[in-house]
Amino acid sequence: MKVPFVDLKSQYLEIKNDIDTAIENVINETAFIGGNYVKIFKEDFQNAYGVKHCIPVANGTDAIYIVLKMLGIGEGDEVITSANSWISTSETISQTGAKPVFVDIDPIYYTIDPSKIEDKITPRTKAIIPVHLYGQMADITSIEAICKSYNLYLIEDCAQSHFSSLNGIKAGLTGIASTFSFYPGKNLGAYGDAGCILTNNSELAEKMTMFSNHGALTKHNHLIEGINSRLDGLQAAILSVKLPYLHDWTEARIANAKKYYEGLIGIGDLQLPKVRPSSKHTYHLYVIKTKNRDALKVFLESHGVETAIHYPVALPLMPAYSRFGADAQEYPVGSDHVNKILSLPMYPELSDEQMNYIIKLIRSFYADLAC
Ligand SMILES: *Cc1c(COP(=O)(O)O)cnc(C)c1O
Repeated sequence: MKVPFVDLKSQYLEIKNDIDTAIENVINETAFIGGNYVKIFKEDFQNAYGVKHCIPVANGTDAIYIVLKMLGIGEGDEVITSANSWISTSETISQTGAKPVFVDIDPIYYTIDPSKIEDKITPRTKAIIPVHLYGQMADITSIEAICKSYNLYLIEDCAQSHFSSLNGIKAGLTGIASTFSFYPGKNLGAYGDAGCILTNNSELAEKMTMFSNHGALTKHNHLIEGINSRLDGLQAAILSVKLPYLHDWTEARIANAKKYYEGLIGIGDLQLPKVRPSSKHTYHLYVIKTKNRDALKVFLESHGVETAIHYPVALPLMPAYSRFGADAQEYPVGSDHVNKILSLPMYPELSDEQMNYIIKLIRSFYADLAC
């Protein structure tokens, strides 16, 4: 049996008619840039979150950059973020001219460790960007309290946490702004690059809208210099088709996670993902931990099961950040984490047969180890 790590094709086939019609409509109306479909998705998404403004942009990386720039963050400033994330979170900080300052993750939930944040705050610190990693929210309550007491902006990176929540509050509704990616493999994925920003701050929303469209709110009236970061009409139309399904898809991910928990509990040194109390984990990724990671990965691969590692190197230890001269001891949790994690296939369309196969394989791997 073959189990791919992601399977975007089977989801497309499920909704093929709607998607094909949406694409045809955009082309018939040549609504490629701007236009009605972008407006409709913008409203769909902001209504789904009950937030005042959704600013559609070209991708989730630009989303972070645009928020930082329009908050006036740049040269001489520092922005705190998690040591373990996708590089978008930190590269955008550098792009503004500010310095990314990394904080280790907590050993249980793998998100930024609030107890280690205050040590890293200086008079130059302007903002904190927690990442709601793998589909589970960071400890937003503690982070928000720190932001309040030091007067820092809170920006939530929600690229992996569409409709995740903690204590009933959705990811993306606590900070001054939050950023989403609709990269095809994300829980809500377009058929190309796409992203957006949510905020309740109308003044900031207007600046961000302007900046993402060459600094203009109306054609040829460039109030500032901006960038070209627009959601295109095709992606918007596709996202509007997919959004109503997201609730059920998320529930299917949660049901699949439950099957993994039941099938994999109590095996060897295997650590299964832990869920915070009162947290809705949406399982963008199902990340297990074991000291036998490399051998398990090879074993699964040799039996047709694709896995992945998110992410193999902690950000401060990447060559891109060699200028900071960080070493692994500064990030003891995050630098150990990367050597043990393995992301198993996780998507709504995984069949029982596929899941049972993966579980059986992992069980047999550990049975052989024990001999
Ligand atoms: C995917 C992702 C991004 C960037 O999104 P793109 O749309 O690929 O630019 C940012 N942060 C995190 C944590 C991500 O997983």
